[in-house]
Amino acid sequence: MLQRLHDAMRRLLFFVTRLFRRSSGNPGTIRETVIPRDQHPVSRNQLSKAALNTLYGLHKGGYQAYLVGGCLRDLLTGGQPKDFDVVTDATPEQIEGLFRRARIIGRRFRLVHVRFGPEVIEVSTFRARPPKASDTGRDRRSLSNDGQVLRDNIYGNIQEDALRRDFTINALYYNIADFALHDFTDSMKDLEAGIIRLIGNPHERYREDPVRMLRAARFAAKLGFELHADTRAPIGELANLLRNVPPARLFDEVLKLFLTGHARESLEALRELGLFEPLFPETAEALAAGDESGERLLAEAMRNTDRRISQNKPVTPAFLFGVLLWPAVRARMAERREAGEAAMPALNQAMSEVLAREVEIVAIPRRFSSVMREIWSLQMRLPRRTGKRAEAMLGHRRFRAAYDFLLVRERAGEIESGLGEWWTRYQEADEDERVAMVKQLGNDAGADGKGKKRRRRRPR
Ligand code: ATP
Ligand code: MG
Repeated sequence: MLQRLHDAMRRLLFFVTRLFRRSSGNPGTIRETVIPRDQHPVSRNQLSKAALNTLYGLHKGGYQAYLVGGCLRDLLTGGQPKDFDVVTDATPEQIEGLFRRARIIGRRFRLVHVRFGPEVIEVSTFRARPPKASDTGRDRRSLSNDGQVLRDNIYGNIQEDALRRDFTINALYYNIADFALHDFTDSMKDLEAGIIRLIGNPHERYREDPVRMLRAARFAAKLGFELHADTRAPIGELANLLRNVPPARLFDEVLKLFLTGHARESLEALRELGLFEPLFPETAEALAAGDESGERLLAEAMRNTDRRISQNKPVTPAFLFGVLLWPAVRARMAERREAGEAAMPALNQAMSEVLAREVEIVAIPRRFSSVMREIWSLQMRLPRRTGKRAEAMLGHRRFRAAYDFLLVRERAGEIESGLGEWWTRYQEADEDERVAMVKQLGNDAGADGKGKKRRRRRPR
């Protein structure tokens, strides 16, 4: 009898605490601010045709339809959205049924791609916050031991959908029914103040998905925003969780950090937050050991990349990763040279070792790493220009990239200047001038890399 009473009391207590928790943290009670059309600047003619078609398709089908996330953030900060994401209360099957060219994709996160012409709109169903690491029982099974979310298909309402997003600036909703913005997390305030603030408990949110740390750095770099103190604080301690992220996902993130026009700011943000080291440990090590030309190389290359993007010139991941890993390759090569190895084999080994270790962290596809090897190897060949070498080099399919790489190394003060300028002139020269230039090298003892090296070789 006493035991039963005791059990009943415990059960009651359990429900009371649950009830209490619900009313304080339950999404149903969060404050919603609705900003009507005449009080915000987002206009339908800023949206793509496909986005509008998708929103109206859902609306006419009797469902809720909102634009959400990055596109609104970009529009409200004066940027151009890359793509438009739509959320709705329709299930993936219902969405698929509404459009002629729609396809359900994804397993961990089921959503629908709706196609209009060349444009694809991602449509997802409102989702609830995935289980927390502190949860027990059934929900806990969709988390890994580190608290990372493995499955994420629990549908919810719009409030819950807002709370599971990463940053307040990414959690704004635009309702196609009345063109109003819906704000559940003081997004507008943070957008206006230029603050990146993680929604919820930062420790927990980073543990669920460590990539959020990189996203914080990226948005800070891209928008010139500051991380809120609470959002910044846990990063130093949790940065190493990036080691648990699939390398293919990190590859995508690194490209977004460095090949979207704000490479310089991204590098600064990553290093300041201690996120560069887990991504590029050997380069970080070389820089920490005082590789000053390496520092300048990275800075110069980032400036260069940003400039190219602003001029709509192509940029390649091979060049970017070639730069990011060059200090590491140089350090390994120097060790081997000191141990008496010849230059070319030392470089070859250094490249292989650095790449082998790096692809375990960031999955650089082979089509890029093979180009990186070529660019690096050609750095040893560019100084050798006598005989037919210069002409042959010009015909090499990676000459242009290798030459650009050389220029960056020269500007960084890694090597004496002059060689880059020689190659610039050589490319612009006509045939006779080229012959003369090479001949001139033969006369200038030591102007050819090879001659120089031979003279310097120490006796055994
Ligand atoms: P961009 O497209 O410029 O990379 P974005 O914010 O649109 O930025 P996406 O990856 O396209 O980023 O994601 C769309 C939206 O999904 C985000 O705005 C955010 O609301 C949400 N989101 C994306 N990644 C995460 C994440 N790791 N955790 C929680 N929410 C996320
Ligand atoms: Mg996006």
